[in-house]
Amino acid sequence: SRDFDDDNDPGRVRVAVRLRPRNAEDLLSDADFADCVELQPELKRLKLRKNNWSSESYKFDEVFTGTASQKRVYEVVAKPVVESVLSGYNGTVMAYGQTGTGKTFTLGRLGKDDASERGIMVRALEDIVANISLASDTVEISYLQLYMESIQDLLAPEKTNITINEDPKTGEVSLPGAVTVKVQDLDHFIELLQIGEGNRHAANTKLNTESSRSHAILMVYIRRSVPEKVEDDINSQDRKTKSNLPLVRKSKLLIVDLAGSERLDKSGSEGLLLEEAKFINLSLTSLGKCINALAENSPHIPTRDSKLTRLLRDSFGGSARTSLIITIGPSSRHHAETTSTIMFGQRAM
Ligand code: ADP
Ligand code: MG
Repeated sequence: SRDFDDDNDPGRVRVAVRLRPRNAEDLLSDADFADCVELQPELKRLKLRKNNWSSESYKFDEVFTGTASQKRVYEVVAKPVVESVLSGYNGTVMAYGQTGTGKTFTLGRLGKDDASERGIMVRALEDIVANISLASDTVEISYLQLYMESIQDLLAPEKTNITINEDPKTGEVSLPGAVTVKVQDLDHFIELLQIGEGNRHAANTKLNTESSRSHAILMVYIRRSVPEKVEDDINSQDRKTKSNLPLVRKSKLLIVDLAGSERLDKSGSEGLLLEEAKFINLSLTSLGKCINALAENSPHIPTRDSKLTRLLRDSFGGSARTSLIITIGPSSRHHAETTSTIMFGQRAM
């Protein structure tokens, strides 16, 4: 059976749906309290209402109702990726959905007053620092925003046009122009996230845009010293000598809070808004094509089409583990957007 934990086919994208609870706006505007989705968690299925008479049912790797805790979402969706990264593979966790459905809540929530509210970024780092030895291993992060095919450094906002480098031999993707900060402990990490968020708001105010129009990308680089005895073949290119110097195993985790998936009304937009719409469509469409190609076991994953997919290239498919969280709201008001979000997730299954 398909499961987040199965070890067969590590390269396939595992997909969960998370339904946001009704909010005040849903309650005000939906006089009839009509939901357009119904979850069947025991079957890992979602029923989407097509019209008053019929509905369609879709299977996912997991479906989370509005009462699912942050802890549970982390443990099911992200923990297997984190564990795989700790053992030397790259991995990606991303959230896709309409603005307002819970992507940032799921990934980026800091939970400063209440640790139970912490999202995947903080929980992942908590797990990572608990499982490595900060004396011999290092954890470094970069935090970036990708807006209109331009990468900005959220930890050094003056850096606004960071280029993506791909090692022709190893295929390793790197961002030589981005700041990397060595994480001292979890509080330090939370502080860095907060600084990054502040810079993101400032940058977007200056650009006269909204955070929902850009992708936020957290990159976590792990370097572990591996005693020679438990060495396997991963990263054997790092083995410089046959002496008993510790080997270094490198891996990275990407956590991506994608731009809002809502289709901007291109006919009514002009200028900046129209340009933004084109770029968001470009990156999300090319992400969709890659996910589709992975699901079909295609030998060619078309990662060249956008910066988003170029960044993901070595952390996506193959030996890398990828989890995708599809966030949706319950209200039938957003039936069209919810349908297209669910179809995006289905393309990976
Ligand atoms: P997005 O990043 O997709 O635009 P947010 O994460 O900002 O959406 O969520 C929008 C609002 O809904 C926020 O006020 C957030 O706190 C709330 N919210 C989202 N998901 C949940 C959830 N699972 N439980 C409770 N509140 C949620
Ligand atoms: Mg958000």
